[in-house]
Amino acid sequence: MSRREVPPGECPQCWQHAYDRNAHRHLAPREDCPQCVDHMINGHPYLVPKKSV
Ligand SMILES: [Zn+2]
Ligand SMILES: [Zn+2]
Repeated sequence: MSRREVPPGECPQCWQHAYDRNAHRHLAPREDCPQCVDHMINGHPYLVPKKSV
């Protein structure tokens, strides 16, 4: 499995869902992803910290 590294300041889940087609594979074409909706409404619980140096 190839996985993009999540850049600093990004939400790992949203990043993966945005770039990994398989993340939404179980959803209907126009069906909302509960996890993504939750983040849009409640915000992201975790963001990748920015690396120092
Ligand atoms: Zn998120
Ligand atoms: Zn999603």
